[in-house]
Amino acid sequence: MNKYNIFFVSPEVSPFSKTGGLADVAGSLPKALSKLGHRVTVVTPCYRGMKEKFHLKETGIRLKVPFGKRSIDAEFIRFKDGDIEVYFLKRDEFFDRTYLYSTPLGDYFDNAERFIFFSRSVMEFIRKAEILPDIIHCHEWQTALIPVYLRTLYQKNIPRNIATVFTIHNIAFQGIFPEYIFPYTGLPKKLFNTGGKGLEFWGRVNFMKGGLLFSDALTTVSSKYSTEIQTPQLGYGLEGIVKERQDVLYGVLNGVDYNEWDPCTDGLIVAGYSAADLSGKLECKKDLLYRYNLNIPIKRPLVGMISRLSDQKGFDIFFKAVDKLMKLDIGFVVLGQGQKNYHDFLKKLEKRYRGRFGVKIIFDNTLAHRIEAGCDIFLMPSRYEPCGLNQIYSLKYGTVPVVRATGGLDDTIMDFISNPGQGTGFKIKEHSPEALIHTLKCAVDVYEDKNTWNGIVKRAMRADFSWSKSAAVYEKIYDNIYQKTARVKKLKAALQ
Ligand code: ADP
Repeated sequence: MNKYNIFFVSPEVSPFSKTGGLADVAGSLPKALSKLGHRVTVVTPCYRGMKEKFHLKETGIRLKVPFGKRSIDAEFIRFKDGDIEVYFLKRDEFFDRTYLYSTPLGDYFDNAERFIFFSRSVMEFIRKAEILPDIIHCHEWQTALIPVYLRTLYQKNIPRNIATVFTIHNIAFQGIFPEYIFPYTGLPKKLFNTGGKGLEFWGRVNFMKGGLLFSDALTTVSSKYSTEIQTPQLGYGLEGIVKERQDVLYGVLNGVDYNEWDPCTDGLIVAGYSAADLSGKLECKKDLLYRYNLNIPIKRPLVGMISRLSDQKGFDIFFKAVDKLMKLDIGFVVLGQGQKNYHDFLKKLEKRYRGRFGVKIIFDNTLAHRIEAGCDIFLMPSRYEPCGLNQIYSLKYGTVPVVRATGGLDDTIMDFISNPGQGTGFKIKEHSPEALIHTLKCAVDVYEDKNTWNGIVKRAMRADFSWSKSAAVYEKIYDNIYQKTARVKKLKAALQ
């Protein structure tokens, strides 16, 4: 296999910045690729406080970046993480904010400008890089203009063969903005149209549409989601384009970094444990009950949820089901941030079920680890879920996942009810409060039978979702598209 110089561009990268699973992927996949012998450079924005917190180093790289009719200064600073270089775009007027993309009241008004500037800065950075990349791997709408720039404005500036991959982590977030934004991109006017390779989408600009049309390969984060986004139910208006490009679309399941998420070695939990000796898990449960001020009997199941509080995550059916769920004599701990109406409702539940229903409306990675370790059951009733990471972490922590059978949840969990000998969790078959109640009740019933339950726990803990398999798939995709774009380039040169 050829070894490539890969630029990995993401709007969030763990441990520097994080709102969700994308950050975990952008933090861990480069390491797995580097282990396979590739050279990986990560590029991401420098958000508030990061420079000081992570002691980011000056590089002296200052660029004038075209932005609409003017140019704006961009500074790149750096962090070296083992073999991986991480470059941060520093421009405080755009990125020195309390949140990454939105406040609890809504998106920042200038997200289009922020990520046009980011994408254009990355192009200028690449243009001036000492060693040009072979592959640019872009993630989500915030980076989707990069493949467009490469094949249009920068085609002549960067004459080298570079292939692009665009990964869809969640097609519901496309980066759709009013038409007046388009000139800021600096792209030719003819690209604002609906036919061919146009970025217009019902009279507005759609960044993700650009990424889908101009990238050499598209990937998404599970096999099931790669088919779901080709349907009107989950394609959010882009299903036609995804379908047209299905020959270059791959569903590659996200891996996880077991250096971070393993109860044997996790320094953030109060007691380590393994499948062979689960005693530490009970200590973690006691600690969690204490932290959430809950007083359910230690023998009753404790159910955890860690989630963005949004419609996607199934809180609508959860709220309709919750009073019946509480009759199962169980406890709940919830950790999340997001829509204000959900904050309010959860706080009400905390009052209604004092001592049994705990809520923390914060972003807290340590607490996330403690919930994974201290709960018996992890609930993800998502309406849709491109991959989902928490159910994979839950498997490793022996916290049995109860999940909606959708996207990556369906691909990673083996249902105990339909497959008792191999089950690692429980699947909610349809998006309804009744189905949720039914499935959680099944799980709680099985929990009473300690032998059977421990069998599920141990099987879950043995499941392996490390990056090695998926990183090897990405490697093949890179190789395919690099060879293909090189052939096309040669052919074009010969024809000139
Ligand atoms: P998504 O990316 O759709 O939000 P995933 O399940 O793929 O969902 O990934 C969510 C990631 O974000 C997990 O690592 C989870 O632990 C983390 N996370 C979500 N909300 C919080 C929170 N409030 N505090 C700490 N970690 C959180």
